[in-house]
Amino acid sequence: METKNNISKKTYPVTGMHCASCTNSVQSILTSQNGVQDANVNLATNSVLVEFDQKEIKPEGLKKAVQSIGYDLLIDEDDDQSESIEEYQRLAYSKLIQNTAWAGALSIPMVILSMVFPNWSLSGIISAILATPVVFYFGRRFFIGAWKQLQHKKANMDSLVALSTSIAYFFSLFNLVFPETLQSRGLEAHVYFEAAAVIIFFILVGKLLEERAKTQTASSIKKLIGLQPKKVTILDEHGHESEKGIKDVQVGDRILIVPGQKIPVDGKVIDGQSAVDESTLTGEPIPVDKDIDDTLTSGTHNISGSLVMEATKVGESTFLNQLIKLVQEAQGSRTPVQNLVDKIAGVFVPTVIGLSILTLLSWLIFGGDQNVTHGILSMVTVLVIACPCALGLATPTALMVGVGKGSDNGILVKNAQSLEHAHQVDTVVLDKTGTITEGKPSVSSIKWLQNEAHYAPILKTLESKSEHPLANAVSNFLDSIDSYKVQSFSNLPGKGVMATVENKNYFVGSQKLLSEMKLELDTEDQDQIKSWESEGETVVYFFTRQEVLAIIGLADSIKRDSSEAIKKLKDKGIHVIMLTGDHAGAAKAIAERAGIEHFEASLLPHEKGEFIQKLQSEGRKVAMIGDGINDTHALSLADLSIAMGQGADIAIDTASMTIISSNLNKIPEALQLSHQTIRTIRQNLFWAFIYNLIGIPIAAGLLYPINGFLLNPMIAGAAMAMSSVSVVTNSLRLKFMKL
Ligand code: ADP
Ligand code: MG
Repeated sequence: METKNNISKKTYPVTGMHCASCTNSVQSILTSQNGVQDANVNLATNSVLVEFDQKEIKPEGLKKAVQSIGYDLLIDEDDDQSESIEEYQRLAYSKLIQNTAWAGALSIPMVILSMVFPNWSLSGIISAILATPVVFYFGRRFFIGAWKQLQHKKANMDSLVALSTSIAYFFSLFNLVFPETLQSRGLEAHVYFEAAAVIIFFILVGKLLEERAKTQTASSIKKLIGLQPKKVTILDEHGHESEKGIKDVQVGDRILIVPGQKIPVDGKVIDGQSAVDESTLTGEPIPVDKDIDDTLTSGTHNISGSLVMEATKVGESTFLNQLIKLVQEAQGSRTPVQNLVDKIAGVFVPTVIGLSILTLLSWLIFGGDQNVTHGILSMVTVLVIACPCALGLATPTALMVGVGKGSDNGILVKNAQSLEHAHQVDTVVLDKTGTITEGKPSVSSIKWLQNEAHYAPILKTLESKSEHPLANAVSNFLDSIDSYKVQSFSNLPGKGVMATVENKNYFVGSQKLLSEMKLELDTEDQDQIKSWESEGETVVYFFTRQEVLAIIGLADSIKRDSSEAIKKLKDKGIHVIMLTGDHAGAAKAIAERAGIEHFEASLLPHEKGEFIQKLQSEGRKVAMIGDGINDTHALSLADLSIAMGQGADIAIDTASMTIISSNLNKIPEALQLSHQTIRTIRQNLFWAFIYNLIGIPIAAGLLYPINGFLLNPMIAGAAMAMSSVSVVTNSLRLKFMKL
């Protein structure tokens, strides 16, 4: 649980929801509670993300509110929550199978009776006997739901099913008991028990198929959860082994991992050597070699050798658990279009009830000699065909599959909006260092202009204070040299560092920083710098206010996949731009090698942000891709921000998407994923709407005056079941599309 001044954000499973209007009801009852700041219901996961003030309302209070409208909230705080929920869902599912099987078994003889012996005097009575348990016992969930809704003056899909089947049932019962009433007016007193039963049966079948498909859409999360072993082997100081449950592992524990085992928590290698398969998280197939002091990430797979690791992050804070939480939240998030759909669904049911009454009245007035029978049947058909199930499933199921597919491929999507933004991107801005290049520079040459023996320790002192990758490279290069005590030290973001050593100010940094001191370099040095830069090397200057002490050339190799990925982006018609704080000379060489025509150099961090804003003011939809070092500002301004980074330190918080590996090819894949997901959502919505738009008028009998066609209510039941099944199936198709 995430706690911030008593505000908790937690996901609870909700049971009993089956349509778009159910999500509305649960959401509105929760948000109307005191202390609840936000509630976000997801039909595809059957869960709700609630943000609430622990001081004002307890989970029990939330549960009570949800129960009052006929659903339930599982607030079990038990450790094995996921298991008890699964158990609950399994039970609910097997009950659904039973109910469906019985409804089917009893409906079939009714259909046969009505078709083969329509005029047998006993048919009606037998059907009545068979239909009663189907409608009111095996279909009782619809009546219970409708009743609870009614108590709150609300209506949902249950209301439609309950209303339509009970109208058919009671109209038939009336005709069975008082056949004279209609006969005396020259009409046939037909019974439609089989219609009521078959509608229940088909809707149950639809639900069954839908539940089955929904569990498949959640497979990515299950896979992630399965990556964590339940037990680990702990080594004590004497090397004795003992077993511990994963939940009891503490920071500092030494854990033995033999080949074939999964890495249980985050940590670092303290003994042994091995290759670790990180593909489960990064989507990268090549195993990574691990040696002493290398980091190990929970959820990855030890392949070749035995390792002893020291745990640095355990429990909720491990990378894997963060990842699971993130994916869950993203899958449960809503697109803006979803809010619109929910609004429509909210007025949908009352509208449909209104339409069905209108249908009945129209038939009674204009319907001719069969007006009562046709009117009631058409009313029933309208109620049945208009169920908003497909509408409710259209967006969340596609999101589930899309986000899950992303996590399978090492692409973390923060929320539904990110996917929608990614879909619109026409400009991709890449940071140079760490994004296009490896971000692991090393000193390739250093030229001392002043006494090396005297100044090298000072350079080392400055750079060992800085976290910047260039600084690391310099201090690694000066490995054997001791450093001084510094009196003061400051970072000059995007420019370099400054420190006072033995009462004198020293600087290491870019040419921009150097030019602020108005120091001159002779032509020989300038030529030297030009030639390094033309090789793509970053040149860094070490100087005082009076003189330049050294110039350093650092090479950072360009990533293997960079130019291929950039070509793919360009082929998609996307404008690619590189930004860097580095000097134009080096930037040009790297941009050329990566295949980028447009680059901007010597930018300070805030200038990177301004550049993004400038692009946006030209009407571009900008994606910014960076490693989170010096570019968080630009990342936060872009329409879509993608952080790239390996291991546990990724900037998940600011970025709207995160690529866990460092492979730039994942960028075109991420954009492709967003196209696929958004397209699937649109297809689903289109079909869900078109189905109602065409279905309702036909059900009302609009074709009857033209060609005598009246939709059979049983067919309407089947069509309604198929519509939600087809939406879920279309979403599942997303899983198999190529990225
Ligand atoms: P990038 O945009 O390529 O990520 P930065 O904004 O991090 O680059 O840095 C821009 C420039 O500032 C570097 O190319 C380098 O010249 C200089 N610089 C920044 N920090 C340091 C440092 N700690 N040591 C040396 N040079 C630095
Ligand atoms: Mg950078």
